Amino acid sequence: MKIAILSRNPKLYSTRRLKEVGIARGHDVDIINTLHCYMDITSSKSAVRYKGEELPQYDAIIPRIGASVTFYGTAVVRQFEMMGTFSVNESVAISRSRDKLRSMQLLARKNIGLPRTGFANSPDNVKDLIKNVGGAPLVIKLLEGTQGIGVVLAETTKAAESVIEAFMGLKANILVQEFIKEAAGADIRCFVIGEKVVAAMRRQGAEGEFRSNLHRGGSAEVIKLTKEERATALNAAKVMGLGVCGVDLLRSNNGPVVMEVNSSPGLEGIETSTQKDISGMIFEYIEKNAKPFHNKTKGKG
Ligand code: ADP
Ligand code: MG
Repeated sequence: MKIAILSRNPKLYSTRRLKEVGIARGHDVDIINTLHCYMDITSSKSAVRYKGEELPQYDAIIPRIGASVTFYGTAVVRQFEMMGTFSVNESVAISRSRDKLRSMQLLARKNIGLPRTGFANSPDNVKDLIKNVGGAPLVIKLLEGTQGIGVVLAETTKAAESVIEAFMGLKANILVQEFIKEAAGADIRCFVIGEKVVAAMRRQGAEGEFRSNLHRGGSAEVIKLTKEERATALNAAKVMGLGVCGVDLLRSNNGPVVMEVNSSPGLEGIETSTQKDISGMIFEYIEKNAKPFHNKTKGKG
């Protein structure tokens, strides 16, 4: 098959591995810089252009869209979808998962376990918002933060109020969330491909850190999921509409709760800690599903 990896950095572990593994499986694999793609949006002959030429018709794309380029990146993915190219993750699904508020609402709608979460616009409502998620300590997070940046733990109600007011003053959109203390700085990354959780790891934050992100110095180890955790991860991926994703869970006293669903989950941590060929499984998924116009949304928005 002719497959393109949309990535801005060919040197990243995930990008390199996907290319190597794809080639080893007999595919023709190109790495394309998402931001250097440009689009011909003419009716009935939509095309993606790259370095002065029209790109060939790919059978499938693997979008690895960084959080900072979601707007442009999803437009490029949508363009491929309009041309009938199969995308491992569809543009609409990527947009959904990138917005923490939108994804929490979609997950809540389907009764998937979540930490109690609130969202408000006006500082007048801050006190009640805090009370509603159970009071301090609580977590405040920027809607579009990643890698743990923009996630703050407020230990007291006073601290929570002033941090929330400061963010509101800056016109930053934030969620206010119950702090799952019993998770003890660890979370569980469930790697989902299609209808299966293919691997899972437990990430533990560095000493004294409540955020378990590997980018913040966390460490990873293999973990066995409970049935309930597995079902929660699969449901969350399904609600988002993502074919390949990382579902992050916390173990709370009330069962698993979803933190977020990542549409470009890193491969290095999960492949190293589980010793599984996740990249190969992504290609298996493509080989089974990449048929022309096989996307669910077909670029519908
Ligand atoms: P990011 O997109 O920046 O990774 P997350 O929402 O995943 O943001 O939060 C980063 C980390 O902070 C999580 O992996 C988790 O370890 C910790 N964390 C986030 N929210 C909570 C919470 N409500 N209770 C306990 N820990 C949390
Ligand atoms: Mg996270």
